Amino acid sequence: MDVQKPYRILLYYKFVPIENPEEFTQEHLDFCKDLGLKGRILISKEGINGTVSGTIEQTNTYMETMHRDPRFSDLWFKIDEADGHTFKKMHVRHRPELVTFRVDKDLDPNRKTGNYLEPKEFYAALQDEDVIVLDGRNDYEYDIGHFRRAIRPEVESFKEFPEWIRENLGDYKDKKIITYCTGGIRCEKLTAFMLEEGFKDVAQLHGGIVTYGNDPEVKGRLWDGKCYVFDERIAVPINHTEEDVVIGKCYHCGKPEDRYINCKYDLCHRQHVVCPECEEKYHGYCSPDCEQKDLELVKD
Ligand SMILES: [Zn+2]
Ligand SMILES: [Zn+2]
Repeated sequence: MDVQKPYRILLYYKFVPIENPEEFTQEHLDFCKDLGLKGRILISKEGINGTVSGTIEQTNTYMETMHRDPRFSDLWFKIDEADGHTFKKMHVRHRPELVTFRVDKDLDPNRKTGNYLEPKEFYAALQDEDVIVLDGRNDYEYDIGHFRRAIRPEVESFKEFPEWIRENLGDYKDKKIITYCTGGIRCEKLTAFMLEEGFKDVAQLHGGIVTYGNDPEVKGRLWDGKCYVFDERIAVPINHTEEDVVIGKCYHCGKPEDRYINCKYDLCHRQHVVCPECEEKYHGYCSPDCEQKDLELVKD
């Protein structure tokens, strides 16, 4: 048995009506700061979506307090262990939507969303050649790790999905389609949208990739590479059975690699995969051009 690490990362969401969301946002920020948590939480009139890090005690208090609130009594926390905080600050923000999707349709996952597949069911569907596997995340997330056979969506942000689906998946409306994302929230909206668009059989991975990787039976099988996460860890392993496959490629030399950095030139800040040798060679810039511009900036 591994020794338990001193910190935890919680990942959670719930679609539930929240009255006076702006007021609740401020209260929640104070509460989280008092507890000593760090992370990012979004609150809207349609619910809550968060990821926070803290000690075992801090995260326990947070979960217990949330579960005492009738709105969040069944809130499902996905828990990962960590050696320390994985965020620098604590942000709680009010947003019109929990995940920015901006479609001309009213999508309420509590009313209609794709069927939920538990990790074991999802694993079985992955092996069925008639099933279409659609990655519900952005292209840069896909590029360092994804389920085998999954379609890579050419989107850089979630709000590009509706257009991309209308343009590319029209022929698949009668097929069985399964989707997945990091913690599950994006697929709630994505599958709701697809059902509205006339797709007949759409299902989603319940609890997302994180839950799939932690499932003691499935153990992350058929996942290749790493899973992109939105905190300081950047990428985490999911497949705990086979050899660790690296599927990302260094932006400069093409060598297998799966660590992302941001270009050191602030006006570029391009997120790119880079191997240690090239990071040194290019001094952390995505191109000699960016390094040049940054040097000129210093001179001015
Ligand atoms: Zn390289
Ligand atoms: Zn750059």
